[in-house]
Amino acid sequence: MAQAPYTSPLAGALAPDLLERFERYVRIDTQSRRERERSPSTPGQLELGRLLVAELRQANLADAELDEHGYVTATLPAGDEASNASGPVVGLIAHMDTSPDAPGAGVQPIVHRSYPGGVIELPRLNTRLDPATMPELATKTGHDIVTSSGDTLLGADDKAGVAAIMTAVAHLAANPELPRPALRIGFTPDEEIGEGATLFEIERFGALCAYTIDGSELGELQDETFSAVEVIISIHGVDVHPGQGTGKLVNALRLAARIIATLPAETLAPETTSGREGFIHPYELSGTPGLAQIHAIVRDFDEQLLAGHVALLEHTAREIVDSDPRARLELEVRRQYRNMRSYLEPNPYVTAAAEIAIRAEGIEPLRSPIRGGTDGSRLSEMGLPTPNLFTGGHEYHSVREWASVQDMAAAAATIVRLAEVWTRPERFGSPAK
Ligand SMILES: [Zn+2]
Repeated sequence: MAQAPYTSPLAGALAPDLLERFERYVRIDTQSRRERERSPSTPGQLELGRLLVAELRQANLADAELDEHGYVTATLPAGDEASNASGPVVGLIAHMDTSPDAPGAGVQPIVHRSYPGGVIELPRLNTRLDPATMPELATKTGHDIVTSSGDTLLGADDKAGVAAIMTAVAHLAANPELPRPALRIGFTPDEEIGEGATLFEIERFGALCAYTIDGSELGELQDETFSAVEVIISIHGVDVHPGQGTGKLVNALRLAARIIATLPAETLAPETTSGREGFIHPYELSGTPGLAQIHAIVRDFDEQLLAGHVALLEHTAREIVDSDPRARLELEVRRQYRNMRSYLEPNPYVTAAAEIAIRAEGIEPLRSPIRGGTDGSRLSEMGLPTPNLFTGGHEYHSVREWASVQDMAAAAATIVRLAEVWTRPERFGSPAK
């Protein structure tokens, strides 16, 4: 028999509005582009930004605006006198762009009502969602599941987060008697290409702390991310016409291939690690015999281990390139973001408030480190403590991406609870203002 989906009266009441918004937002192509010339990297993000500003103004958030870099901000004032609300200003953040890793144009969402269990077959490209390989899907019988048509991503990452915030804010705005502090809303562009926090104005945002709504499974609360480094390895060979190459040609491509082949694969690779293990991941190889380049990302939760992985990569590259004195190595190490734990630990009340809100919604908090980064990784480092909350979306960055309507509505309901929790900051040890 189908198991009844998680539901609460509040989530149930919010679900229809949430689904309507979600379907509207995912149809706009907001895929970001790695080769960024300006912010945002693509015009579709501005189109969604303009729509969100119009909807926020309609909900009476009079200062809603889209700035020249594609960031949407708005303020929901504290509840009215009847709500007896006070408390510090709290931020809610989601990103508007979708991943460049799967097709993002022409998204046609399909709602599979009351999922009976089993394989979901999508109409295009024979895309299948098989609960045998998707353990979370197996737990969602009875839910309304939203998918793409099989040939695009869905965009629940992070339009589920955008829709959850918009639904919660519209609900709070329409019910000023509900207790809440002033809330600041921020929708960011280009998160998927690592630029979401770049032009975020923390001072102007003016919040004590914030929450990204950009996680996945129901109940997730994440205050740990990878620490992240990118390494760009350039190998200079000696390019000679192959007909005259005898004893002269030094092929940079061969050296690059040897470096990749020498790196550990049974350990320290994303395909062979999980949980708290870090990795070295070469993700792009380009070049000619004269010059080859390897782009790799290096990840770990621990700074010292991360430094060790970078040293291993550097040592491997150096040893192989130095084996031919005519070849030359250049190595650039770029810091991307740092584990947010070090910034959240001194402010434990930020995560504590979210934990109380999730429980108030009848959900058990799921604490797991993120094998990746969020806008919150860099925002926390920049001075705005920002842990991450669940959205109800799954299988991100792929044509199999799906989301549960009930779980997305639970995210919206959790935001409403979080607003109430923040009107009594003394309960969880927060400084009041
Ligand atoms: Zn995301």
